[in-house]
Amino acid sequence: MPKSKKLVWFRRDLRSFDNAALGAALDESGAQAWCAFVFDTGILAGLPRDDRRVHFIHASLAALDADLRRMGGGLIVLHGDPRDEIPRLAARLGVHTVYTNRDYEPQAIARDAGVAARLEADGRRLASFKDQVIFERGEVLTQGGTPFSVFTPYKNAWLKRLAAEPQALAPHDVESRAGALAPPPAGTALPGLADIGFIAPPAPVEPAGMSGAAALFDHFLDRIGGYGGTRDFPALDATSHLSVHLRFGTTSIRHLVRTAQQVGAHGAAGATVWLSELIWRDFYAMILAQNPHVATQAFRPAFDGVAWEQGPQADEDFAAWCAGRTGYPLVDAAMAQLNQTGFMHNRLRMLTASFLTKDLGIDWRRGERYFALKLNDYELASNNGGWQWAASTGCDAQPWFRIFNPLTQSRKFDPDGAFIRRWLPQLAALGAREIHAPWLADPALLQAQGVQLGRDYPWPLVDHEQARKRTLARFEAIRTER
Ligand code: FAD
Repeated sequence: MPKSKKLVWFRRDLRSFDNAALGAALDESGAQAWCAFVFDTGILAGLPRDDRRVHFIHASLAALDADLRRMGGGLIVLHGDPRDEIPRLAARLGVHTVYTNRDYEPQAIARDAGVAARLEADGRRLASFKDQVIFERGEVLTQGGTPFSVFTPYKNAWLKRLAAEPQALAPHDVESRAGALAPPPAGTALPGLADIGFIAPPAPVEPAGMSGAAALFDHFLDRIGGYGGTRDFPALDATSHLSVHLRFGTTSIRHLVRTAQQVGAHGAAGATVWLSELIWRDFYAMILAQNPHVATQAFRPAFDGVAWEQGPQADEDFAAWCAGRTGYPLVDAAMAQLNQTGFMHNRLRMLTASFLTKDLGIDWRRGERYFALKLNDYELASNNGGWQWAASTGCDAQPWFRIFNPLTQSRKFDPDGAFIRRWLPQLAALGAREIHAPWLADPALLQAQGVQLGRDYPWPLVDHEQARKRTLARFEAIRTER
């Protein structure tokens, strides 16, 4: 089996530039490399037929295939279980090594171990590369050599390591080595969406693919300077919206960090704040890799003892939260944005997660699962980190006694109610004074504006002050037990 024959297996790295595994596979004279993607039937089986992410992946694969073809290659697209498909394809093509970029989620690690074992049994091997983060797993440690669990010292150590090792941002060259790309064999072209059992969603994620990510980033660079002051206001177009592209690798984290550093060095203060957000992403990936138990349990085991609400009332409250019927307009507007588009602004992810866990007293894992189902940018590490932060069960989390007041959050971050009006048209006529808490408004005034509580919009599900006391007691109970 000639070592020069290679297969590059794409997963969450759907781009043909600055791609570590692809660059490495092409980096040998006389190499011949095929590129492949597998629609994993095990994952697809659990998704709705109009899942936005499948549509996004499909559109991004079409763009990737076109670019690989421009360079003389193309994409082989299969549909099945990667544990079977990848070893079978490797055997069919007679390749020695399968190149892939590392994925740090527990299920992906198990899948890759399965693929590696099958390949090895056949005399082949799986070679994996760091691509989706700047520093992975054990690369940024405390002086004592242990993993960090607090963000700020992690960030300082991360920045220090990058200063000492700027080559961590060096792009992986593909274009100049493209002569090694091999065209796909007949009958392996990208199937239509319908051929894998899916349909286009009513509101697709746009723009998709590498050019979509590049266009979003260009647009964001015009506004990045103000990011520090505007990023918390969901009614503004102030954040990059690149999370779905980072999730599926249609952009390169190295490119984003390099650009943020350059723009920051030229005086755009917001770029430094934005860079911190990218470091949060590495931080949570590291937390998951070092502490895989967080996928199902609290980061701090003592918090597994929190007695979350259960039973029919909790089920009803949870259903109301999912549907955006809590009676708290900013919470409901945020859930409407999520349900209709698959995106939710970061401030509102914090608010809705806090509301579910601290106002309704419902287990963070239920909210985490709902977000996993709905978010276009869903990834286990950041979603879990965000939920455990809001629920006060995580590393470097919001202290359990500091509880967001949904009304204060609403007045502060959507002061004139523009975001609420956009997503809750039934409240659009309300003024800035009434819109945050319609139940406090004069009923006659509400009626004049065409809103009747209980008919057009729900009464609040809970009284925040009472809920806050219940939450404090819930956490106090485990504090005394510890
Ligand atoms: P920008 O403000 O432009 O930030 C740039 C990038 O930095 C983001 O695209 C993202 O990759 C990263 N980033 C920003 N904030 C965070 C953060 N707090 N943690 C980790 N990375 C961050 N992000 C996901 O990518 N997937 C998720 O499943 C996810 N679930 C979340 C759940 C909760 C409860 C919370 C509080 C946050 C979650 N986040 C998640 C983080 C954050 O809300 C999103 O990354 C961000 O809103 C995406 O919008 P943007 O691309 O415009 O972000």
